[in-house]
Amino acid sequence: MTADAIIAAAQDFADQYITPHAQAWEEQGGLPREFFARAGASGLLGLEVPASFGGAAQSFAVKAEVCEILAGADFGAAMALINSQNVAKKLVTAAPEIAGAYVPDLVIGARVGCTALTEPHAGSDFAAITTRAAAAPGGWRLTGHKAWIVNAAHADTIVVYAQTKAPGDASGIGAFLIDARAPGFQRGTASGSLGLQSCGAGEFQLNDHFVPETAVLGAPGAAFKAILAEINGARLYVAAMCCGMVEAAIRIAAAWGRSRTAFGVPLHEHQSWRFALAEAATDVAGLRALVHAAAARLDRGEDVQLAAAQAKILAARIAQARLPALIHAMGAEGLKPRYPLGRHLMAAQAVGLVDGSTEMLLERVAKLTMKDTG
Ligand SMILES: Cc1cc2nc3c(=O)[nH]c(=O)nc-3n(C[C@H](O)[C@H](O)[C@H](O)COP(=O)(O)OP(=O)(O)OC[C@H]3O[C@@H](n4cnc5c(N)ncnc54)[C@H](O)[C@@H]3O)c2cc1C
Repeated sequence: MTADAIIAAAQDFADQYITPHAQAWEEQGGLPREFFARAGASGLLGLEVPASFGGAAQSFAVKAEVCEILAGADFGAAMALINSQNVAKKLVTAAPEIAGAYVPDLVIGARVGCTALTEPHAGSDFAAITTRAAAAPGGWRLTGHKAWIVNAAHADTIVVYAQTKAPGDASGIGAFLIDARAPGFQRGTASGSLGLQSCGAGEFQLNDHFVPETAVLGAPGAAFKAILAEINGARLYVAAMCCGMVEAAIRIAAAWGRSRTAFGVPLHEHQSWRFALAEAATDVAGLRALVHAAAARLDRGEDVQLAAAQAKILAARIAQARLPALIHAMGAEGLKPRYPLGRHLMAAQAVGLVDGSTEMLLERVAKLTMKDTG
């Protein structure tokens, strides 16, 4: 598929499938497994995967655009889809010799992927994870508890980060591929994230789960550094998702402003009413420009650590400020569940946490700024 065909497929998937079902998924506590088969049939689960594995071999910039479109309909569904495709991409690059057993199925949605770093007691402080990987003949045995993992409800192909040394020692953290169909995997409860049920965030337990040496995706020491580099992409596509959510809210508020009359004229004819839209549109234009420029640099193989951190800090700020203002501009109508606005509002809160909280990112920007100015 060409980039244009992928973008069109994403828009169609958002309009024809996500939008009509998203509120029901929220109320039912999650999206159905069928979601992944439909996403696969639309060509959206192998965006960055080579054609030889059934993927679309597209750039990161295309992926960011797809993220913006999908999140405009539902942030949780966008996260579910992208997290699964990320595992396909990771397998192709980190373990090409075993990728054939998993990636074609991930691309068609017959398998579902997720990536698990967080634990009940360790979020921002990633190095504090205690899931243990103990060396065993031919591989490793993993034991531990993961929490707040997108797609935990459905995933069977899981990238797990685990400690091979003492807790707190980042040089001991490795990345391992878990096949949830093998013994020693137990799916746990849902995290119950309000407004984001469709992302299927939840817990799972590993009990002496065996991982062969061929399924080590990142050796102890290298894995920690690799995730710090990979996470730059995640920060950028989450920022793109914020553009999508705020853009969707602008369109919804604008339509309401045309149809609702107050003091004898449509709402949008009141100058101060229009400012909420103008402020939001201006913020989105700036954020989108930052994301597009950084995405192009990432595709050229350049270091985007600073731009990615700044984009996500700005994205959280913009979504957390503009979404409430746009809901307010719709009066009581803005509170109705027929719109995605309430879900977007909670998603804006999650944006401030996922892939590095705003405080962690400010620390990163501060360090890089001090280095640049020293
Ligand atoms: C919807 C959703 C989906 C997620 N998906 C995944 C996933 O797929 N895989 C995965 O591994 N994890 C996932 N997470 C977990 C996410 O990465 C964590 O929520 C995040 O790392 C923050 O950790 P925490 O929630 O434990 O907060 P904590 O680390 O407990 O922090 C609480 C608050 O304190 C602040 N804080 C912490 N330390 C400092 C400090 N040193 N200085 C100043 N402030 C500080 C934080 O910024 C935050 O505001 C998801 C979370 C959500 C909400």
